Amino acid sequence: MALSICTKCGTEIAARTSACPSCGKAVEAPDDAPPIRKLSGKFQAAGVLILASAIVATVAGTWWGPAMAFPGVALLLLGRL
Ligand SMILES: [Zn+2]
Repeated sequence: MALSICTKCGTEIAARTSACPSCGKAVEAPDDAPPIRKLSGKFQAAGVLILASAIVATVAGTWWGPAMAFPGVALLLLGRL
């Protein structure tokens, strides 16, 4: 388990703890992915879902199948940024 050091008093803090148990200073979690990374993961998941439905719809012969592939690809690319 990774430990971080309190920047105020130097106490070792468990990585999942949000505040220092000794002095109460808020601790940043270094192993947590930044929000933008989590967001791009969701974009990718949504893109895969939309693209999969678009392919199924295209094979099924619906008119909206090919049109639906575009937002799916766009979301996938957005998630890769
Ligand atoms: Zn502290």
